[in-house]
Amino acid sequence: MPELELIDTHAHLDSSDYSDDRAALIARTFAERIGVITVGVDLESSEAALKLAQHHKFIWAGVGIHPHEARTFNAQVEKRLRELATDPKVVAIGEIGLDYYRDLSPRSVQRDAFVEQIELANELDLPVIIHNRESTKDMLAILRRHRPKRGVIHSFFGDIDLAREFLKLGLYLGIGGPLTFKKNDILRDAVSQIPLDRILLETDSPYLTPVPYRGKRNEPVYVRYVAEEIARLKGISPEQVAVITTQNARQLFGI
Ligand SMILES: [Zn+2]
Repeated sequence: MPELELIDTHAHLDSSDYSDDRAALIARTFAERIGVITVGVDLESSEAALKLAQHHKFIWAGVGIHPHEARTFNAQVEKRLRELATDPKVVAIGEIGLDYYRDLSPRSVQRDAFVEQIELANELDLPVIIHNRESTKDMLAILRRHRPKRGVIHSFFGDIDLAREFLKLGLYLGIGGPLTFKKNDILRDAVSQIPLDRILLETDSPYLTPVPYRGKRNEPVYVRYVAEEIARLKGISPEQVAVITTQNARQLFGI
């Protein structure tokens, strides 16, 4: 196996959308020299993510409780996350954060679970993978008070001013399929100005499929379309985007 070219830093490979062809999908991902960080959203998917990582050299896992599932977070769950995190293939606590768009757990419960998991990550010296949807004000307030040692804002969406606020906190910005969506000029403008050494590539597979496959099931090989769009916006080659963003992922996740 030659060196990895690209790393998809956010996918959900345990998703039931892949039940029928997961092995084939993983094989073509590796054939394209793409590594994957597969991210849990609850205890069950965190365990599934780790299992995939243990079985494949170029898959690593994030373990954590998503804001949608925040009401399931408790001391017992935290204990289990801590156990999972002792495995060397666990490279992050995530995905964690706030989601005030769907509000599937009460907001105060989301905030508490988020803070607890930032503290867990800091204690374990792991980066955090952060979900933020329509919750930016509380997000920034929490991050300033409970600062993660390292981490990424997954599927960053916003303008350059918001990007700068996250960069000031030392975080990376995860950029995925939405960069290719027609209406997202604000995001394209931001990405054109965000330093490449602070950008991570991601797909959020099976969601957020980039153009030209928008509307279909997403998968890690499509991370290439994100790299191409970033290259176009910055006036550099896709190879340069690949080299720098892969280096960024290796540095943040220690892989
Ligand atoms: Zn996700």
